[in-house]
Amino acid sequence: MSDVSVIGLGDMGTAIGRALVSAGLAVTVWNRSAAKEAPLVSMGATAATTAGAAIAASPVTVLCVSDYAATTALIEGAALQDRLLMQFASGTPAQARSMEARVRQGGGRYVDGAIGAWPRQIGSPDASFTLSGNADDFAAARPVLELLGGQSTHVGSDVGHAKAYANAGLAYFAGHWIGFAQGASISQSEGLDPAVLGEMLASMGPILSNDLLLMGRAIASDAFDEADSTIKTIAGDLNWLAELAETAGGNNEFARLAAALFTRTRDMGLGDKQHSAIIKALRG
Ligand code: NAP
Repeated sequence: MSDVSVIGLGDMGTAIGRALVSAGLAVTVWNRSAAKEAPLVSMGATAATTAGAAIAASPVTVLCVSDYAATTALIEGAALQDRLLMQFASGTPAQARSMEARVRQGGGRYVDGAIGAWPRQIGSPDASFTLSGNADDFAAARPVLELLGGQSTHVGSDVGHAKAYANAGLAYFAGHWIGFAQGASISQSEGLDPAVLGEMLASMGPILSNDLLLMGRAIASDAFDEADSTIKTIAGDLNWLAELAETAGGNNEFARLAAALFTRTRDMGLGDKQHSAIIKALRG
C-alpha cells in the first residue's frame, strides 16, 4: 500500500504528485499516456498499471483528469469500498453530485474540489483548495490537502458547492482576462506598452480587493445605495469605451456587451445605484 494515489498527470496532476512525493509520502501514480508517469517515478513514485490498480493501492486517491466523463470511465469497475476519492476535474455541481452518488454506491468516500492555483503554486502557501462533501470525508482528505498548499476550505456537505464556487470564480476571471486584453489592444492602438497597463492595474490591487468585498456584501443584502461610482456614470463611460474600441480597429464585442448591460440597468431606474446592481439586469 502507498499513502496516496494520483490519477491524471497533466500539468496540475503532475504538480500535485510532485508536491506529495517531495513531502515524503509513498505515492502511486497513473496516467493514460504512460510517458507522463516517468518524471514522478524517477522521484520515487510507483506507477500503477491501471487506474483501478492506483485506487486499490492507497486509502486516498486524487483524481485530476480533464472532466467528469473521463473520471467516470476511469473508476468504472474499480473496487471503491472504503476508498476516499478527491476529485479536481472541472465541471458542474450536478456532475459532482452524480459522481458522489456513483462512488457511494460502490462503498467509497468522496469529496469534490476546486483548485485556486496554477500548477507552479502547488505546494506553496499561495495555493488554495475549496472542497465540498461529507465533513468526515473532508477531515480524512485534509492531511493530503495540507501538503498541497496554503489553505483548504470546506464549503459544506452539498458536494456540488465547490464546483458552484469554481464556476462563479471562473465567471469573474473571464471578465478579468477579456477586459485586460481589450485594454491592452486599445493601449497598443495608441502605441502604448501593455506591460505598463499591467503594472498600473496591479498597483490598484487593494482597491480591487475592497471592491470585491463591497460587491459581495451589496448583492447578498440586495442593498446598492453605497455607491462610490454609479450605474449611470459607468454606462456613459462604457459607451465611450465601446466607441474607442471600434475606432481602434479591434473587436469591440466585450465593450459593447458591457455598455449594453450598464445602459439596460440604468434604464431599469437604477442609475444612482452602485455598479454591482447590474446583477438585476443579469437576472432578467
Ligand atoms: P492537462 O494538462 O490538459 O491534463 C489533462 C489530464 O487529463 C491528462 O492527464 C490527460 O491524460 C487526462 N485525460 C483527459 N482525458 C482523459 C480520458 N478520457 N481518460 C484518461 N485520462 C484523460 O490539464 P490540467 O491543467 O492538468 O488540468 C486537469 C484538471 O484540473 C482540469 O479539469 C482543470 O480544469 C483542473 N484545473 C487545472 C488548473 C491549472 O491551472 N492547470 C487549475 C485548476 C483546476 P493524457 O496525458 O493521457 O492526455
